[in-house]
Amino acid sequence: MQRAYTLWDELSQQCEERLFHQVGLLEVGRPDGIVIPCVVTSVQQHGLVVDQLTAEQINSRFPAFRAPPDLVDVFEREAGYLKAERCVLAHVTMAKRHGAKFRTGEIVIGWQAQRRDVTVTTDRANYTSAKLVVAAGAWANQFLHDLQIPLRILAKHLHWYVSDHAGIRAEEGAPRFSTSYQKTTSMDSLRSTTAD
Ligand SMILES: Cc1cc2nc3c(=O)[nH]c(=O)nc-3n(C[C@H](O)[C@H](O)[C@H](O)COP(=O)(O)OP(=O)(O)OC[C@H]3O[C@@H](n4cnc5c(N)ncnc54)[C@H](O)[C@@H]3O)c2cc1C
Repeated sequence: MQRAYTLWDELSQQCEERLFHQVGLLEVGRPDGIVIPCVVTSVQQHGLVVDQLTAEQINSRFPAFRAPPDLVDVFEREAGYLKAERCVLAHVTMAKRHGAKFRTGEIVIGWQAQRRDVTVTTDRANYTSAKLVVAAGAWANQFLHDLQIPLRILAKHLHWYVSDHAGIRAEEGAPRFSTSYQKTTSMDSLRSTTAD
């Protein structure tokens, strides 16, 4: 976890592009909820630096946010966001520089392990190598089926909101933020987490 920051820095330098933006992360949630106890455990495990902020501190530091008093606010200074697509491109560029070959637009149909190697069959060709890493994301079930590795795919609902409130922009000093709520958290307190 700590090494991740060093490695992103290294990748940025090699690609001469800023990938990680250290704007901090504000997490707001119930002390007995799911996210905050996990954040606290993670902080202890990895020696992260976090500030536990009061509602007043949040309001004065980040005026766009209104923190409900019954929720806990944890601010991680070192955190931020990565430009995900640029990061994938940076990894591809560096891998190519080190001799990796990419085959895009090919569909993997299956794979077969022999005694010494493994063959991957796509809709265009067969590839044989000593090792195989399957990184098929939510589609991995199709490939892991024969190994009887159970993988349960769950649907997660994501919502994106557009706001023209300048106070929530990174350029204006706003951190990344996340709010977790459970059935016990009222929608009113959730709505009041941000001013707009
Ligand atoms: C809307 C959204 C927002 C997210 N936001 C965040 C975030 O802010 N922070 C964060 O950490 N994570 C976020 N995630 C989660 C993150 O994107 C995933 O955890 C991550 O992409 C998983 O990477 P992966 O390489 O394991 O799988 P994937 O990125 O899913 O890659 C799997 C690849 O395998 C390919 N593939 C599958 N089957 C085949 C086949 N038969 N032949 C050839 N290719 C195949 C697919 O096309 C795909 O390109 C978000 C996810 C979504 C959907």
